[in-house]
Amino acid sequence: MKRNNFSRSGRFSRGKHLYIGPKTIISALVAIGLMLAGFVVYTRYFRSASLTRVQFDLSAIKTAKNIVPVLVVGSGPAGLAAAMYTARGGMHTVVVEGSQPGGQLMGTSWVENWPGMKKMLGPDLMKNAREQAQEFGTLFLSDRVVEIGTNTWPYTVSLASGKELSALTIIVATGSEPKRLGIPGEQEYWAKGVSACATCDAPFFKGADIAVIGGGDSALEEAMQLSAYAQHIYLIVRGPKMRASQTMQERIKAYPQIEVLLQTKPEEVVGNGVQVTGLRVDNNGEKRLLGIQGLFLAIGHTPNSAFLPKVIQRDADGVLVLEGNSQKTTVLGIYGAGDVADARYRQAGVAAGAGVRAGLDALDFLAMQGVQKSIFSNIEGSLFIPDGGQQRKALPELTSVKEFDQLLQQKRIVCIDFFSEMCPACVQLLPVLELAAFAREHVAMAKINIFALNELRTRFNITKVPTVALFVDGRLVERLQGFASYQKILELLDNHR
Ligand code: NDP
Repeated sequence: MKRNNFSRSGRFSRGKHLYIGPKTIISALVAIGLMLAGFVVYTRYFRSASLTRVQFDLSAIKTAKNIVPVLVVGSGPAGLAAAMYTARGGMHTVVVEGSQPGGQLMGTSWVENWPGMKKMLGPDLMKNAREQAQEFGTLFLSDRVVEIGTNTWPYTVSLASGKELSALTIIVATGSEPKRLGIPGEQEYWAKGVSACATCDAPFFKGADIAVIGGGDSALEEAMQLSAYAQHIYLIVRGPKMRASQTMQERIKAYPQIEVLLQTKPEEVVGNGVQVTGLRVDNNGEKRLLGIQGLFLAIGHTPNSAFLPKVIQRDADGVLVLEGNSQKTTVLGIYGAGDVADARYRQAGVAAGAGVRAGLDALDFLAMQGVQKSIFSNIEGSLFIPDGGQQRKALPELTSVKEFDQLLQQKRIVCIDFFSEMCPACVQLLPVLELAAFAREHVAMAKINIFALNELRTRFNITKVPTVALFVDGRLVERLQGFASYQKILELLDNHR
């Protein structure tokens, strides 16, 4: 006869075989259930509420350095509207402008759906909004936030320039950035014919054949902008129909140089090592090589939220998760507004509205912590003032090749900002260069509108704006393309003393 041997854990074995009884199974299931429930409670409440364990102790303000009561990250419609409200509400507000000051509207032509204004250029609209925020006392900082620390309050904010700020409340309005295709050749020929900004780069493609990828409003708008320069434009739409509004679809019919290719998938960007020469596509099952010199991407955007700490929750696409009917993120005192927190509407007007809400939420939060304007009178010296004490030196504009050649002959080290009008990154870079011009007076710095002096564009093969080029003893020794931080510019200038 076989004997049942009970173990201490309630399991028993029949002979050599281990037998697990129903009680054990139920206990194990209950234990697993409890663990899962614990995990859900932890992730839903405690992780997001790690913030509530932060001490919101006003006395910390007395010892903190570089205090910013309201820090707005991003300077598109959401950021500017938020800043307008908080500055007007009497709170010292600093906007960190980010890598595209003014946001996506800086790359848009006519805006005709801004309530109360029938028609206005995107960059003009943003210029007005910036001035309006400035009139209420908003301060602007040409820099980028690279990290936010939320373990202590005031929150610590690290900038690309190396500065550290102590923010009492933060409004994240960083927008989104253009998506890439991820096909072979795209990266290799980036800025050598591949671009995501028609407003910036269109003049490089005079008389050229080009392609625009995408079937949304942005793609159609870019194709129309480019038609002022390019000879032929393939509008490449992957699906059987365009997603763009009916109005835009009607409008492009008036442009004979725009050829719409439906059911067409881009497969490879090809080039000659220097410049794009073609695009391989699958056109409804047929493989084709389109001969083009330029490729513009307009396939949507990814929210700029990767730099945020995990405790500020995002969805699978990186869009900030907001709490109920508010702009609150999962960290107290940190708010989201605009495209970084809105996967659905993505309209400038909606972003501005969300900015207003975030501004009001931030003011409420400060009031709840007992932060009033008057408390800063005792700690005036610790409030952060952008560019405090730093001076700028304006860059003279050279308007002829002769002036440029003379400068190279007269000065040993020359730094030129090759810019174009309406290029958002150029607008952002200029104040950074002006600071550097003051800090490194031994370098002769100047700016040149590259499309006004085409001879220099060809001579130095400038394919992207802005390009900062350093000349030593009359020779081009190094160049930086796109926006660069203050530190990066100083490194460039110091590399060749
Ligand atoms: P959308 O998301 O509206 O459109 C993206 C387009 O890119 C779609 O046609 C999509 O195709 C295509 N696409 C996405 N990924 C790929 C890929 N890997 N390969 C090929 N094609 C791809 O983005 P938009 O930037 O155009 O617009 C964003 C928002 O801004 C919209 O709400 C728009 O209305 C608004 N807007 C308004 C303007 C105005 O009013 N003047 C101007 C510009 C934008 P598919 O359809 O198959 O997904």
